[in-house]
Amino acid sequence: MNLILMGLPGAGKGTQAERIVETYQIPHISTGDMFREAIKNETELGLKAKSFMDAGDLVPDEVTNGIVKERLAQPDTDKGFLLDGFPRTLDQAEALSEMLQDLNKKIDAVIEIQVAEDVLVERLAGRFICRNCGATYHKIFNPTKVEGTCDRCGGHEFYQREDDKPETVKNRLAVNVKASQPILAYYKDAGVLYPIDGDRDIDDVFTDVKAIITK
Ligand code: ADP
Ligand code: AMP
Repeated sequence: MNLILMGLPGAGKGTQAERIVETYQIPHISTGDMFREAIKNETELGLKAKSFMDAGDLVPDEVTNGIVKERLAQPDTDKGFLLDGFPRTLDQAEALSEMLQDLNKKIDAVIEIQVAEDVLVERLAGRFICRNCGATYHKIFNPTKVEGTCDRCGGHEFYQREDDKPETVKNRLAVNVKASQPILAYYKDAGVLYPIDGDRDIDDVFTDVKAIITK
C-alpha cells in the first residue's frame, strides 16, 4: 500500500501518520522530518534546507526530489510506504511518478486532509513535539495525558518548531496553498485523490483514513 498524505501545514498529517504507520506497519517518509534531522546533524543537506525552512519557503525541488528518490530505493518500502509532506509542487509530483515507474510501483491513494486556514493558524501556534520520539501534541486540542510526560515514550522534554512562529506561519500557509492546487488536480485526474474533513476529532479523522485504506 503506497500512500500520500496531503494537507496544509497543521492539517494533521503527522498526527494521522503516527497512527497509520503503527496500524499498517509501513515506513513513514516525511521530508520535513528528514530536513529537520539533517539540520540537527549539521549535514550538507541540512545547510541547504535551513534558510528556506526558516523563512517558511519550500526547499528547492532538486534537493527534495533527491532525498525522496534515495529513500524510496530502500528495501523497507517494498511492503508499502506513507509519504507525508511530499510532493508539494507539481514538479515533485511528476518526479515522483517517474521514480515510482522506475521502481515498478504506483500510488494507491492520496489522502487530502482538509482544514480551514484560521483553524490551522491556531493548531500551529499550540503544537509541541517530544524531543525524544517526535510525537506531536497540542496545548489545547491534543495534550499529553500526564502533563509534561510524553504518552508514547515517557520523555519529559518537548520543543516548539522554529517555523511555527506566527511570522513564518503566514508565509508557509500562502506558499503551500498556491503550490498544492495543481498537485491536487493532478491526482484527481489520476483518480486517486480522497479528500477528508480534517476539522474533527483526531480519532474521527483516523476512522475516515482507515476506511479509505481498506477500500
Ligand atoms: P501537519 O503534520 O499536517 O503539519 P500535525 O499533525 O503536526 O500537522 O498537527 C498540527 C497540530 O494540530 C498539532 O499540534 C496536533 O496535535 C494538532 N492536531 C492534529 N490533528 C488535529 C485534530 N483533528 N484536531 C485538533 N488538533 C489537531
Ligand atoms: P513540514 O514538516 O512538512 O511542515 O515541512 C517543514 C518545512 O520543510 C517546509 O516549510 C519546507 O521548508 C520544507 N519541506 C518539507 N517538505 C518539503 C517538500 N516536499 N518540498 C519543499 N520543501 C519541503
